[in-house]
This record gives sequence, structure tokens and C-alpha cells, in this order.
Amino acid sequence: MSRKTLDLSEALSGYLQQVQPELSDIERRMLEETAQLPGAGMQIAPEQASLLSVLAASIGAVHTLEVGVFTGLSTLAVARALPAHGRVVAMDIDAATTERARAYWEAAGVADRIELHIAPALETLDGLLAAGKQDRFDFAFIDADKRNYWHYFERCLALLRPGGLIAVDNVLWHGKVADKNENDATTAAIRDFNARLREDTRVLHAVVPVGDGLTLAVKRPTSSTTRDAQ
Ligand code: CA
Repeated sequence: MSRKTLDLSEALSGYLQQVQPELSDIERRMLEETAQLPGAGMQIAPEQASLLSVLAASIGAVHTLEVGVFTGLSTLAVARALPAHGRVVAMDIDAATTERARAYWEAAGVADRIELHIAPALETLDGLLAAGKQDRFDFAFIDADKRNYWHYFERCLALLRPGGLIAVDNVLWHGKVADKNENDATTAAIRDFNARLREDTRVLHAVVPVGDGLTLAVKRPTSSTTRDAQ
């Protein structure tokens, strides 16, 4: 499951939570209530939420994308790091879990920074591209159906400004990516995503073993820049 970083002992995981930024009452409630839901493992770990906040703040993000909302912890983490006029364009297909998310965002006072689209994310992303929003976004977080990861990544990359950052969750997929006996379509899709990204000269990337594995990719200033030129 992805609610704690892989391969940390229970003791060290507990200590990590003690030294992380303190959770707000809303975040604590999100974690407790979401843990009771089917699909609870889809929630990001608290240490990932703090990391997303820091990443968004560190690049001065104002306009961001989120592909896959679930009950809204990652959306809240990014929204709270934005200036008051900042916006998260959040995408999900689940009306029930996002209704919970909306309630949490309201309670946390960030709902006015979040524009939620209940539709297949590829449609929403294609709509933004058709509306000429290329190079307009600063940050994107991708955490939805893994078989579409590459399609989401391509569209988010086009929508990001040079220097913008994409974070992609579950790239270590509970360790299944490293097990040759695991060849289901989702595991294969994540392996394919990881392999393609490694060869992609349009971004600088790092695969960070936090939570279930988080890839960070920065859009290079020009697509013609090569890795060797750095
Ligand atoms: Ca995830």
C-alpha cells in the first residue's frame, strides 16, 4: 500500500510522522476517514503531501494540474502552497470521493483555489490544450489510472511552462515493477512509463523512493537541449 514509504520499519515510520510538519485537524480527519474507505491505499502518504507542498512553493507555483484527486489530500497539499490567486485544475472521474474532497477543501479554506473537473482526465487535458493553455502551468501531479500514465504525462508536459515540474506517483508500484513474475497490464504500464521517461531528453528527472515511489520531472527550457549539454 502507498500510505507509508516503502521499506521503513514501523518504528522509523512512526518517528518520521513525529518530525514531519504537524497535520492540521482537517488533514488528520482526511487520513482517518479515508482509511475506512475502499481503495484507502490510493491516498498518498503524509510525507508525500508535505513534499508536494514544498515542491509547489519552491518553484513559486501559481497554476497547477492534478490528475487523480481521490479524497483530496494531494490537492489540499498543493493548494495550500499557492498564493491566494493560485489555482489547481483537479481532475477525477469519481463523484463520490471528490464530494468528500470538496468538503475537506471547504473546511481547510482552499476550495476557492481548486477547479474540479469530473470527467476522464484526458478529455480535460485535451480541452486545455485546445484552449491554447500550452506553457501556462507551473506544476502537475499525476496519480490516476496507471495505464494512461504516459498519455497524462505527455499532455501535462505540453501544458507546463519551461522549468515547470511534474510529480508522478506509484512509480515503484508496491515493488511489483521489480518482480519478473508480475506482468499484469498495470505493472507493465508503469515499467513502460519509467523506461520511456529515462530516455526522454525533454525533462530532467529523479525517481524518489518516497511513498510508493515518486518521479519528479522538470521541463527543460527547450526540447532540443540534450542531457550531455548540462
Ligand atoms: Ca497514488
